[in-house]
Amino acid sequence: MTQLAKPSMFENPYRPWPARITSITELTSTEKLFELRIIDPDVREAFHHSDGQFVELSIFGVGEAPISISSSPSKQGFIELCVRRAGTVTTVLHDMQCGDVVGLRGPFGHGFPFEEMKGKDILLVAGGLGIAPLRSLINHIHDERSEFGNVTIIYGSRNPAEVMFRSQFEMWRHRKDFNLILTVDRTNDLPWDGEVGLVTKFIPGLELDPSNTYGAIVGPPGMYRFVIAEMRKKGLHYDKIYVSFERQMKCGMGRCGHCMVGHQYTCIDGPVFNYWEAVNIQGAM
Ligand SMILES: Cc1cc2nc3c(=O)[nH]c(=O)nc-3n(C[C@H](O)[C@H](O)[C@H](O)COP(=O)(O)OP(=O)(O)OC[C@H]3O[C@@H](n4cnc5c(N)ncnc54)[C@H](O)[C@@H]3O)c2cc1C
Repeated sequence: MTQLAKPSMFENPYRPWPARITSITELTSTEKLFELRIIDPDVREAFHHSDGQFVELSIFGVGEAPISISSSPSKQGFIELCVRRAGTVTTVLHDMQCGDVVGLRGPFGHGFPFEEMKGKDILLVAGGLGIAPLRSLINHIHDERSEFGNVTIIYGSRNPAEVMFRSQFEMWRHRKDFNLILTVDRTNDLPWDGEVGLVTKFIPGLELDPSNTYGAIVGPPGMYRFVIAEMRKKGLHYDKIYVSFERQMKCGMGRCGHCMVGHQYTCIDGPVFNYWEAVNIQGAM
């Protein structure tokens, strides 16, 4: 008897695969972390992503939105998405419950060069929701910690109420193998025992070996220029600084052209670019 080929996400990349919400964690008043499991066991098993990649998340009858994968590729069988309630799709998602079913396409795009980063010191800077894609890389480095040199993470939020993954980071602040700097722009009179100030404030004081350090930055568009300037002052090479761009996109596969910037499609050439590539894309920075 002929064996039927196992289904794959890539047979028809326009087809969303049903995935069940298996856990929901409220992170802040506007962000939730969703754990999703693709229902078809073969597709679930075949699903592999790299840090910095995204999926197209659909809600049947509502629409589709690109969302970064926030869990480490070292964890298989499920993915985590950290989602801000922003508009049509994400508002409906925020009202869903465990057991509800959504659609997933992907994973799409180029992520961070995890293998290339091994053996090097790492400086990760996240602002606001930028922690969502960077958390995948952070957790992946954690899972293979012995492969990396010094790891510094600077995570900035506007105020203490907007700090995500607080319990994970609270624990990490006491670890010796991560230099974790949590900072807020202002405390708004809320309890806070972290730092106060913009993420850029903490880069000049770091002891870095620029020839052996990779930097990665994800955050609001206005943040990039200033963080890159500080990393450059520390001597980090252009092609060792990675940034992730969000552009409005639809297909995720370089067909529709919605996310085109200069001569590149953010969805397939990015969303992660090294700074050298980014400065050479007209309009990217
Ligand atoms: C590669 C990529 C990764 C992303 N990862 C995440 C993530 O991990 N978590 C998360 O919460 N969101 C993420 N986003 C953003 C998310 O896709 C948008 O907020 C999306 O519009 C939400 O869909 P919606 O239907 O809820 O909102 P919509 O109803 O589509 O729109 C909400 C508002 O946001 C505007 N908008 C939509 N997309 C963008 C954009 N890319 N840049 C600026 N404005 C935009 C719209 O014009 C509108 O004003 C990502 C976007 C990209 C491109």
